[in-house]
Amino acid sequence: MLIIWGEKKTLRREGYVAEFCPVCRDIRCFSLTRVGVTGHMWYISFSKGRLAGHYATCTECGYRNGVDALNYISKAKSRKTPLPELIQRTFPSIHRMRGQSLEYALMVRSGDLPEHHRIEEIVRSISLFDHQIRLMPSPLTITKPVGLTMIATVLAVIGVSMLDDRYHFQEKYPDFRLLDVNYTILIIGAVICAVLMIWGRSIHVRRKILPMMARCLKPLEPAAGELKESLERLKAARAAIGKKVKVQPLVKEIEKAPSSAIKEEPLPDDITF
Ligand SMILES: [Zn+2]
Repeated sequence: MLIIWGEKKTLRREGYVAEFCPVCRDIRCFSLTRVGVTGHMWYISFSKGRLAGHYATCTECGYRNGVDALNYISKAKSRKTPLPELIQRTFPSIHRMRGQSLEYALMVRSGDLPEHHRIEEIVRSISLFDHQIRLMPSPLTITKPVGLTMIATVLAVIGVSMLDDRYHFQEKYPDFRLLDVNYTILIIGAVICAVLMIWGRSIHVRRKILPMMARCLKPLEPAAGELKESLERLKAARAAIGKKVKVQPLVKEIEKAPSSAIKEEPLPDDITF
């Protein structure tokens, strides 16, 4: 009997913690996930495996990054825990540990970033997503959508054959050819799989990464020329994100992105100087 065994990655959600989000540019609630490596037999494993690391995902914008779980003194069970309480329960030293990032983020959101730091900040904001591009599966990987399409194609072929057995389409309709229908289903399934495998990475960039990047860049309100210059710099540094992101789609996404900029409150009428 063929035995399929080896090692696989296991993911286990451990709860919610407060952490600094470089995309929202503020403290946010993050879900914390433990990454383990464990042995499997026929892809079935029975333990969480040895610890490989942790990553945290911002519950507001979806940005994910590796974290040091030792920073958190505990984890909250609910993502609806009010933020001040979440900070106290999970990461009370966050203002000290992330002080510099918080100060810088406040400067960006207030529009107080010095002009000569703009390009560096735009480059840094875009490069936050470089590791997400590098982690994307290669075009030959059978991802979940590709796998589901393959299963759906096989089920469709079996389903049509069963319906033909039951209702005798070939006898009732002389033009009906079961083989032709099944070939058509297989071709359509193969084309969808090919599209997902070839353009899957681009679709992922457009649907998942660009909206997060736009949210991060929004307070800077970068001009198309600044974005072009920043992407050129990243390309020259051989960063994968420099090749995957194009200026015009990014400009459109920034226009749609929610603003995290701090708006100046109008002064009440009775205050005089
Ligand atoms: Zn966020």
